[in-house]
Amino acid sequence: MGTPLDTRREQAAEIVDRLEEAYPDSTISLRYENRLQLLIAVILSAQCTDDRVNKETKPLFEKYDGPEEYANAPQEELAADLNSITYYNSKAEYIRNACQSIVEEHDGEVPDTMDELTALSGVGRKTANVVLQHGHDVVEGIVVDTHVQRLSRRLGLTEEQRPEAIEQELMEIVPDGYWQQFTHLCIDHGRATCTARNPNCADCVLADICPSEKGDSEIDLASGEPW
Ligand code: SF4
Repeated sequence: MGTPLDTRREQAAEIVDRLEEAYPDSTISLRYENRLQLLIAVILSAQCTDDRVNKETKPLFEKYDGPEEYANAPQEELAADLNSITYYNSKAEYIRNACQSIVEEHDGEVPDTMDELTALSGVGRKTANVVLQHGHDVVEGIVVDTHVQRLSRRLGLTEEQRPEAIEQELMEIVPDGYWQQFTHLCIDHGRATCTARNPNCADCVLADICPSEKGDSEIDLASGEPW
């Protein structure tokens, strides 16, 4: 078992330092060319891999151009265009409704505030944070996806369970200026090393400061269950 630094703030800063060195090019892996495409890609990525979303959005973004076209698309047709994505029926409906609001209430532009974004169909705080950060250069929160959730708990940064509560705690301890990058670093490390089922602790740059490290620790703090 690794030994975490004295405070969660120091622990978070050390994690950021080490992961930045390990993943210097870490960034968002969804592909998009404008804010609307970003919004749609993020809605589609819920419980679906970014690779799968990128494959599906390539023809989608060639077929539909602008919020009117999505808003006016028949539900069955848009759903069929998304049919390799998880929950494609619901997501097609979210996209049509969100685009309708964008046309009717926002002059066809993707809004740039948390309140306006989360009022759109299918958009929660996580999706809104991604769109604000990458579409508008506004960082007012930390995106907590499944990797951030798991790693933050394993590494002793939080004991909270719900993404919204984890986000609030992380905002207290992740260094200013790194809120956006923290998510991408956790995602890269979560994919490469600290995977959900079988983390490779023996080859982890955080092992000596990780209280879940499998060498000695018997508990995976992400789940609270024994390894
Ligand atoms: S791979 Fe192991 S040591 Fe590294 S962060 Fe994950 S649980 Fe901790």
